[in-house]
Amino acid sequence: MISRSVPTYTYSDLWHSLKRRSQQGSDQVLRSRLAEMHHVKYVFLLDSARVALYALLKAYNRPGGVLMPAYTCIVVPEAVCYAGYTPVFVDIDYHSLNLTTKDVRQALRRDITVILATHLFGIPCELDELSGILDPDRVLLVEDAAAALGAEYQCQPVGSFGNAAILSFQATKVVAGEAGGALLTNDDNLATKVTRLLETAVPPVDSWQLFAKSFARKMVTSDRLYSLTQFGYRALHGEEMFEIVTPQNHIPQRFLANNSPFSNALITLQLDRLKWNLSRRRKLAQIYQEFLAGHPKLTHCRIPHRCLPAWIQYPIFVEDKKAFYKHMQHAGVDLSWTYRYSCADSYKKEGYPNAKKAAQTVVGLPTYPLLLDQQARAIARSASLY
Ligand SMILES: *Cc1c(COP(=O)(O)O)cnc(C)c1O
Repeated sequence: MISRSVPTYTYSDLWHSLKRRSQQGSDQVLRSRLAEMHHVKYVFLLDSARVALYALLKAYNRPGGVLMPAYTCIVVPEAVCYAGYTPVFVDIDYHSLNLTTKDVRQALRRDITVILATHLFGIPCELDELSGILDPDRVLLVEDAAAALGAEYQCQPVGSFGNAAILSFQATKVVAGEAGGALLTNDDNLATKVTRLLETAVPPVDSWQLFAKSFARKMVTSDRLYSLTQFGYRALHGEEMFEIVTPQNHIPQRFLANNSPFSNALITLQLDRLKWNLSRRRKLAQIYQEFLAGHPKLTHCRIPHRCLPAWIQYPIFVEDKKAFYKHMQHAGVDLSWTYRYSCADSYKKEGYPNAKKAAQTVVGLPTYPLLLDQQARAIARSASLY
């Protein structure tokens, strides 16, 4: 059975990260690498992207509306609420899965203090136009590049355009650190305030615990064990193709945490092969594009000009998501059905048809770097028979 998601680390990475976790200055190495890559002065390494967003909003301290796409990860509006702001949803463009400048312009109200430019599934949104319509003294442009490490927009990495950006290193992202997120900014004033805020941060998750978790994840996502994993997952969680998720209203305990030295070491090791990682993802996406071009029932996402996505998965639009999912299950392939909800529904906001439609009709073909070309071709061949 082919897994929907396999973490990018190897067993050897895990072992080396455990050994390196106590080396002096290793966090500084990761900070400098990310800073250099994104042309920013400041990098904060936190427990997750949601914590990075929370820390940024707290430090910015201008509670008001935060404009964001209605189709995104639920933890994003949750973090916005924890920080004392209000999520203000904008419907996505169904074909690109991201926000359009036109819709953002229409939604800009006086009480909006922050805009989240989200690069969903690693596909860059129209950054250029977006920054053009904003008054930098009034609204902070934050890139949600959680899923898009290394994606390029007009030959520059995303995360280097806004006033700040957040990155994620969770298990399903471009580079999996098992845990981890980063906050990037060039703004001296914001950086000072974030530094002050982080004096109240709680200690990171224990390295041994993360080592055990990542080791287990590596095992259960292997081709050999995956059928069993899926069986267990289904028994525990079931399988919903579309749902309305309830947002968490209370800030979790120990939320504001730094990232663990283990995860930082694990991320650093994998940055050495980020180029390979991204080129694998792009190759796999290309295989799907070529094999499935013109298929009557499967359509592809529209990519803005002069963009190189980072493809944490390859989204496909299909009218009957469940039927296609089942068809692929029979062929031995597990597809990703995230995100299977619209955040507008979660916050009981009416009138976001595209977000809802995306939640009901988008499935992800796997693009993790360890997937082989021949596997991707087999996946595409099976998909083409749908
Ligand atoms: C994964 C993801 C997040 C959340 O990242 P965490 O590190 O899990 O908090 C936020 N936004 C987008 C677009 C994501 O894909």
